[in-house]
Amino acid sequence: MHIALVGIGKIALDQHVPSITASSDWELSATVSRAGSVDGVPAYTDFAQMLDERPDIRVVSLCLPPVPRFDFAAMAIEAGRHVMLEKPPGATLSECHTLEVMARTRRLSLYATWHSREAEMVAPAKAWLKDKKLRHFHVTWKEDVRRWHPGQDWIWEPGGLGVFDPGINALSIVTEILPDSIHLRSANLLVPENRQAPIAAKLDFYHPQGAVVTTDFDWRQEGEQIWTIDAETDEGTLRLWNGGANMAINGAEVKAADSASAELSGEYPRLYQKMARLVESGNVDVDLSPLRHVADAFALGHRATVAPFIE
Ligand code: NAP
Repeated sequence: MHIALVGIGKIALDQHVPSITASSDWELSATVSRAGSVDGVPAYTDFAQMLDERPDIRVVSLCLPPVPRFDFAAMAIEAGRHVMLEKPPGATLSECHTLEVMARTRRLSLYATWHSREAEMVAPAKAWLKDKKLRHFHVTWKEDVRRWHPGQDWIWEPGGLGVFDPGINALSIVTEILPDSIHLRSANLLVPENRQAPIAAKLDFYHPQGAVVTTDFDWRQEGEQIWTIDAETDEGTLRLWNGGANMAINGAEVKAADSASAELSGEYPRLYQKMARLVESGNVDVDLSPLRHVADAFALGHRATVAPFIE
């Protein structure tokens, strides 16, 4: 299938282009970006023009930051294209609901991707937790914003989510692996005095069986970068680390079953395989639960102002 990639920035070049190129499902047939391009691929700067001139391209993958994404997605759906959305699927829940209704009405596929859910050990962790009684569950997501988001001013603006940009990856795993649904009870957000979005956040969730469920997101982490999830249950402990790439049960590392083909190893190749199957079957996959928790944190969170962030 011919696909167009829109917003040729960091994630498009790091992950989307190599995953599409390696896939037997896809052919990268156009890019749309004001400044970026990919060698050997027709490059457009005007999205409407690409939609107009390339009726052969039935699928569009949007790698833009969340705030501009809705307008591009709506335009693509109105032009009869299937759409794949980078995470988070939008800047607000309402605009994501609107896109889902638009896609369903036109019988087009819409995929709100959550790349962290495709990490190697997320499915095994979900399977292990399925029949356990949860007691404690804690997420630690601490990374250095200067290292991972150099020069990305949008991330500090309204709708950019601040530390929830990586934090929502953790929440996408949490909402995938926990058998029970949780909701936010309280949140503490630390917002630099010169920015609109938090640099750190601690969340506390209600759990229907009374387990203590908390998260700790921080963008000020230097040195070791930490992306771990720890669960304590009635039948032992589970730890995910490296963002879900590794897992230990009761302290012993469990290795992934060696079943994936080379083409399908890695988070983004799996996303593109799922998008291919969605388009073939005419289905929609829009799970907004990670974004819902973030929206709740902004609605309910206690804010404290901290030192300015200067890159
Ligand atoms: P980025 O490099 O800052 O931006 C991506 C591209 O979007 C830019 O190169 C720019 O292309 C276009 N763009 C930016 N602002 C725009 C606007 N207002 N209107 C139209 N186009 C605009 O960001 P990124 O890191 O790739 O992140 C993009 C999305 O991927 C985010 O939602 C992020 O959460 C997600 N993501 C990022 C990472 C990562 O490691 N960076 C990992 C996973 C997911 P042109 O200027 O050339 O048009």
